[in-house]
Amino acid sequence: MKSVETRVETVEALRRVVAAARAGGKRIGLVPTMGALHRGHAALIDASVAECDFTVVSIFVNALQFGPQEDFAVYPRDLDADQALCEEHGVDVVFAPTPGEMYPSEQRTFVDVTGLTDGLCGAFRPGHFRGVTTVVAKLFHIASPDVAYFGAKDAQQLVVIRRMVRDLNFPIEVRAVATVREESGLALSSRNRYLSDEQQKGAAAIYQGLQAARALLEAGETNPERVRQAVRDELVKEPGLREQYVEVVDAEELERVKRIEGRTLVAVAAYAGKTRLIDNIFYPDLPT
Ligand code: AMP
Repeated sequence: MKSVETRVETVEALRRVVAAARAGGKRIGLVPTMGALHRGHAALIDASVAECDFTVVSIFVNALQFGPQEDFAVYPRDLDADQALCEEHGVDVVFAPTPGEMYPSEQRTFVDVTGLTDGLCGAFRPGHFRGVTTVVAKLFHIASPDVAYFGAKDAQQLVVIRRMVRDLNFPIEVRAVATVREESGLALSSRNRYLSDEQQKGAAAIYQGLQAARALLEAGETNPERVRQAVRDELVKEPGLREQYVEVVDAEELERVKRIEGRTLVAVAAYAGKTRLIDNIFYPDLPT
């Protein structure tokens, strides 16, 4: 097992260790996270460790991407456990900056990916993606990775970041990693810690809905309304779940389609109590 050389907290220190790795001819992988790491994050880390020579994991709960009524203050933070997971998985350096390090003065410069952020989660979380793309752009400039890893679990985020990279000529490959799930099918999320046992069980209905959608798509269904309805039919069986949205969109522009053709994203957001959960499937496969 490789041990973590360092945990660094400053931009300058991270730049130094990454520059040294690059000078040694190493290919740099970056896994941006908000911590409270679980097996989903570990899958991203494993992909980076397998494909790159030097893996950076950033851990930063980014206030900029939380709305005023959202869970920024109570978002789970456990840096020691996170560091241990990183060590087990062969991470080279953990970058855990303070808010003051990332935002030393009021942030007046933002990255906004238009259009793609209007629908799905963007419609319910105004400013969220602006916060995400701004912090990810900063992390890209700070860590200057060759490859960056994002989970398909946050499908809209993945598509938005890919577009930012293309539109702004970041010399970075973005890799998508398939969603890691509980045995019940529930997608792993740091927010699952908020769920009671009963809520956890009920939340698996989201996966049941997505499986029903997949079955229809595999059978050749081209009517998006029928696919949406199949998801909803599963969600309503679970009284503990409250749908926020079910959408069937094309996987590139994230626009509703009249007829399903080409790569498609079926995306769900639902509340279990106060906890907002999201999940999705890309069909027939992940965007490359
Ligand atoms: P977060 O810490 O929630 O901001 O997530 C950091 C990264 O891990 C994002 O790229 C997420 O899409 C990814 N991720 C979170 N949960 C999962 C999961 N269950 N499977 C795969 N990737 C995930």
